[in-house]
Amino acid sequence: TRKPLIAGNWKMNLDHLQAVAFVQKLHWTLKDAGHEHDTVEVAVFPPFTDIRTVQTLIDADKIPFALGGQDLSTKDSGAYTGEISGAFLKKLDAGYVIIGHSERREYHHESDADVAAKVQAALRHDLVPVICVGETLEQREESGPTAVSVEQLKVALEGVPADADVVVAYEPVWAIGTGQVASPEQAQEVCSALRAVVAASLGDEAAARTRILYGGSVKSGNIASFMREPDVDGALVGGASLIAEEFAAIVRYQK
Ligand code: 13P
Repeated sequence: TRKPLIAGNWKMNLDHLQAVAFVQKLHWTLKDAGHEHDTVEVAVFPPFTDIRTVQTLIDADKIPFALGGQDLSTKDSGAYTGEISGAFLKKLDAGYVIIGHSERREYHHESDADVAAKVQAALRHDLVPVICVGETLEQREESGPTAVSVEQLKVALEGVPADADVVVAYEPVWAIGTGQVASPEQAQEVCSALRAVVAASLGDEAAARTRILYGGSVKSGNIASFMREPDVDGALVGGASLIAEEFAAIVRYQK
């Protein structure tokens, strides 16, 4: 059985001082509620400039949150101004890194090939890539609900070894930050197609253990309906991950 993962993608929100207050508040809210981190894993993805601060806090207060970056370079080091190496993230105890978020694909023109190169970079540094896929409304109307995500994931998994630990996030672009959430059935349909891609690319064993998340306007009021679907193993949360009580309620969807 797959351990559910509730991941907060802060995007470009919370500076390092705000991050300290937020992480402490989230930790105490979950602790007061008696959250058992063995049952649902919590991960936060702060901006790069916060990661060292959050790492220090997690370490000092023994906070059981996983930490990740929102992106990484395809390169490991060198003359690449503005880029961040997976090696740097790993040094700060990051376990995960988001790759191919639709905002990167749209505003930074990241191609499927760029995403694949970043997946390789993450694996070189022993980071678990959280591979984001998803269709725009236009693409959904043109080629149906699964085709775009399936193709994006196929390319991202090229050359990935069968025993690699990866996470997949299905984020329909039309549901991100719009309040227009996908239905649980829509999420299940695509997540199940994505699990079949993992099976075809990495084998059945990998497909059985790989966590596939839904993302796009997830809130405390709709998370449980997604988690009831057999191929949805968690959520990648944007806006609602910035409010400690709300994010804690998402983590505690079983209650
Ligand atoms: P929202 O939860 O704000 O819709 O964002 C989803 C997302 O893009 C998470 O990566």
